[in-house]
Amino acid sequence: MESSDETTDDLPMPPYVTTEDVVFALRAVSVHTPEQRPDGQRCRKDEAPHPCRLHRWGRRVLAKRGLTDGQVQTLLSGGTVALR
Ligand SMILES: [Zn+2]
Repeated sequence: MESSDETTDDLPMPPYVTTEDVVFALRAVSVHTPEQRPDGQRCRKDEAPHPCRLHRWGRRVLAKRGLTDGQVQTLLSGGTVALR
């Protein structure tokens, strides 16, 4: 009988974070935003408890690329950050 382990369902990280990965990660983080519900914060997009799988993946990709939370916030609000 198959059993799924909820704690190991994280999406795989790219071995090298490209600019395309950064764009995709930013989109994931900006779309998968938390929404307050009676039972806590849930993803606006897929209703999973926040931070959902894609949000976590996006954050990990951006962190791996060396972006700080402040830089991510700037990018999410339409600003520009010099990518190395
Ligand atoms: Zn989500």
